[in-house]
Amino acid sequence: MCFSCIRFSTYVLTAGLLAGACGVANGDEQVAELQARLLEQIAADAWETRGYTGRGTLSKPVMEAMAAVPRHEFVDRYGVGSAYANRPLPIGHGQTISQPFIVALMTDLLNPEPGQIVLEVGTGSGYQAAVLAALVSHVYSIEIIPELAASAERRLAELGIGNVSVKIGDGYFGWPEMGPFDGIIVTAVGPDIPPALLQQLKVGGRMVLPVGSQYSAQNLTVATRLEEGHKAEKVLPVAFVPLTGDH
Ligand code: SAM
Repeated sequence: MCFSCIRFSTYVLTAGLLAGACGVANGDEQVAELQARLLEQIAADAWETRGYTGRGTLSKPVMEAMAAVPRHEFVDRYGVGSAYANRPLPIGHGQTISQPFIVALMTDLLNPEPGQIVLEVGTGSGYQAAVLAALVSHVYSIEIIPELAASAERRLAELGIGNVSVKIGDGYFGWPEMGPFDGIIVTAVGPDIPPALLQQLKVGGRMVLPVGSQYSAQNLTVATRLEEGHKAEKVLPVAFVPLTGDH
């Protein structure tokens, strides 16, 4: 089994057509129905993958955050049917918005708490940052593609999400001026756990990231910073776009 950040399929189109065919519901009702169905699918995926993740259910605050963030605002080139399908979608520049289940799982694995400061590497559309922003005090998010960083920043501002700071850069090196962080999420795959990110994590803090190769096995991994060194635990086979840059 491999849960995907980058694959999408005819399911997306089917869901879009079905949603369009509903016809009777007004826009808000349609979004609410699709959002509710998506939350059911996320809960089902969590249960199905419990043998890997050890988490048959995701926390109530995480599910509430997933319910509160309007995914269709982050993929505005698609209809709401596609936006609320449990699938990744292209967002331009060869990048994707991750599958909602993976966003929910990564957020849950971070164990976010109110008051925390979190770093995200790979802003993309800004959706994962918005989910995190509903759960913690502040999110610092780094995106290497300037156009994506600019559109995510604009979108977050339009939605009134004021506790996310976005910067353009290579997130492999983190954002040391704003650290140390209570948690770090990396939404693109690299071959190792970036040492600079481990250094910017508080002792006891967790980093959730895919580790592996663009072309072969990748594992969603949770790294915990210890007084000395760190421990890393593989959680689930996944497929993410690569962490790019000069590092
Ligand atoms: N979190 C995003 C969202 O919610 O839409 C999805 C992220 S997408 C799977 C991965 C993102 O990581 C892409 O936008 C890509 O440009 C970005 N990225 C890749 N390498 C990076 C790097 N070295 N530093 C910062 N961002 C990077």
